[in-house]
Amino acid sequence: MQEIDDKVKAGERLSRQDGEDLYATDDLAWLGELAHHKRTEMNGDVTLFNINRHLNLTNVCSASCAYCSFQRKPGETDAYTMRLEEAVRLAKEMEPSGITELHIVNGLHPTLPWRYYPRSISALKEALPNVTIKAFTATEIQWFEKISGLPASDILDELMAAGLESLTGGGAEIFDWEIRKQIVDHACHWEDWSRIHRLAHGKGMKTPSTMLYGHIEEPRHRVDHVMRLRELQDETGGFAVFIPLRYQHDFHDSKDGKVRNRIQPVTTMATGAEALKTFAVSRLMFDNVPHVKNFWVMHGLTTAQLSLSYGADDLDGSVVEYKITHDADGFGTPTTMTRDDLLELIRDAGFTPAERNTRYEIVKTFDGPDRTRRDVPQPVWS
Ligand code: SF4
Repeated sequence: MQEIDDKVKAGERLSRQDGEDLYATDDLAWLGELAHHKRTEMNGDVTLFNINRHLNLTNVCSASCAYCSFQRKPGETDAYTMRLEEAVRLAKEMEPSGITELHIVNGLHPTLPWRYYPRSISALKEALPNVTIKAFTATEIQWFEKISGLPASDILDELMAAGLESLTGGGAEIFDWEIRKQIVDHACHWEDWSRIHRLAHGKGMKTPSTMLYGHIEEPRHRVDHVMRLRELQDETGGFAVFIPLRYQHDFHDSKDGKVRNRIQPVTTMATGAEALKTFAVSRLMFDNVPHVKNFWVMHGLTTAQLSLSYGADDLDGSVVEYKITHDADGFGTPTTMTRDDLLELIRDAGFTPAERNTRYEIVKTFDGPDRTRRDVPQPVWS
């Protein structure tokens, strides 16, 4: 612990072994202090947030990933695919709240033609010209290669011409093949995921990176995952943020009552302590990725708030109708947070909020914590 502490304070890069040793410690307070040191060094006391909307154009998917509760097969009761007009209408509903980003991910629809996707981006961009479109996982881009016959480079060019400004970070899950082959059913693995993000970075995009943790993987697989991304970041510098995503164990009893998460019998879910540890180790290992984000929908608001003292410096966001894990979670977390809710959450944790755009440029700054509010009873977050 002392050696690692010294390395972090001296600004030295941590090794794979250091990462595994950090996961092995039970001293959560020390780990938090160390991660907070790194976070403060990199980002001061600022906590970023953005005002965004999540859209899932279709939940119909050709793949059957074992952990996924979102997928539907054609003909299932609540399978849906949005017409472009519906997608535009839903996006426009959020316009008055000042969204700066639309975040779009979808199932791998078996029969929708490739043209549907650039057309969707064009229609949304035309309707909301001041909103950044962040869309599609590397898995979807690889799927578009399959259904269009085009190489990923041409696909990205066409989507960018239609208005796409960033990919999303999903589809990464856990890259280690022994784990991956048990939970992932689509064909996009480390080689393709990294190829597609490398291409996007080469075209000037900043993209997010993610990791799905807390299922059947072990801490060493998380460290391996981070090491691969860190190496790619050394090469391209294109990742703006790393996002640990907590696997959702509880299936939501959806309309048809089916359990789609096939690993549920052998999983639980990361505890709050394990979640904080994962944020802290990620912050400490990633000396070359500027931000670590907590997607609060997957962690609950309490853990999200605490994670700000364990390395996280970014909260996503004013999410609306996030279906992918809301179809799975048992937290009863709200489906939306307003700007004021986020400001309150961040200040209450002792940080200074700042609104960012998709490229992590600060678009608005706010006052820091209001010490006088300690005199009145605090709201209780769920
Ligand atoms: S995780 Fe994505 S690719 Fe896998 S089944 Fe779910 S929607 Fe399909």
